[in-house]
Amino acid sequence: MKKKRILTGDRPSGKLHLGHYVGSLQNRVKMQNSHEQYVMIADLQSLTDESFKSENILEIMKDYISVGIDPEKTTFLLQSQINSLYELTFYYMNLVTLGRLERNPTIKEEILQKGYKDSIKAGFLCYPVSQSADITGIQADVVPAGKDQIPMIEQTNEIVRKFSQQYNSNCLREAEILLSDQPKLVGIDGKSKASKSLNNAIYLSDNEKTLREKVFSMYTDPDHIHVHQPGKIEGNVVFSYLDSFYEDKEHLSELKENYKKGGLGDIKIKQILFESLRAFLTPIQNIRLQLKDEDMISILKNGTYNANIEYEKTIQEVRKSIGIYSFD
Ligand code: ATP
Ligand code: MG
Repeated sequence: MKKKRILTGDRPSGKLHLGHYVGSLQNRVKMQNSHEQYVMIADLQSLTDESFKSENILEIMKDYISVGIDPEKTTFLLQSQINSLYELTFYYMNLVTLGRLERNPTIKEEILQKGYKDSIKAGFLCYPVSQSADITGIQADVVPAGKDQIPMIEQTNEIVRKFSQQYNSNCLREAEILLSDQPKLVGIDGKSKASKSLNNAIYLSDNEKTLREKVFSMYTDPDHIHVHQPGKIEGNVVFSYLDSFYEDKEHLSELKENYKKGGLGDIKIKQILFESLRAFLTPIQNIRLQLKDEDMISILKNGTYNANIEYEKTIQEVRKSIGIYSFD
């Protein structure tokens, strides 16, 4: 049976962190075996909120390869280098209304978060349309993503249905979202999820010193002042990270019991977490050290070339369906 095709990716707005590992990277390492996987670095999308930094492209490539996303199994592509995406997005703009774009709940939330209010750029409001082009242009069946992406997939599928109906064509396919079953990894401050822009994340590339500083500054239980006092597990960042990264689950339950009873200090659990994160990150960073910039570029260039062939097939069909004039 033909493998289902996946499109997933990241904006190059910063290096990847443990939140990305838990939320998406580890899943990509698995899915590349069962699916035909395309991973896009969405540089055009990061222009829409001015988070674009081109130096992050190579860093992200190194993040991908060092955690085990394998260029033999996964196709990496750089969004800005796929010409048909600009064209596809332009066609799709005529299949959505302004009202529909403004009703997108994720966009609404981001407008509030980013404080755009009365100065919303067209590019930002329309990025779900550009995302629809990313997904449909490669003929993706499955898009693994978080809940915040549900409206984007709905928008994509609405565009597909509208296109099919308007141009009496079946060259585009609807995609399905595959929701991550992992809860969001909390930031070291305990206030919200780990995130680049909140500066509360541990990066895959953080060195030992930084890792130690971050782990030892983690929010625990503010009422747990003395070692002998009972401590709280809920909302305790150290235990959230141990849940995700500490292998010996039986020992972890014992640690939790002891912490709840009293007698286990914050320094001790932080030391345990530091050791296990160091053990987790060291092999990843050892691989990273060996990765050369020129190899990252060539992997991305090759992947983009191959992905482009697929996008070209779609754009040819789309032009034909719409009836775009051709000189040939
Ligand atoms: P920004 O601060 O710029 O929004 P970010 O660190 O939140 O950046 P995104 O690029 O917004 O990262 O995240 C991309 C995807 O990575 C998310 O859709 C989600 O799947 C995953 N992800 C990011 N942060 C976490 C997290 N803390 N826990 C689990 N998954 C996460
Ligand atoms: Mg985010």
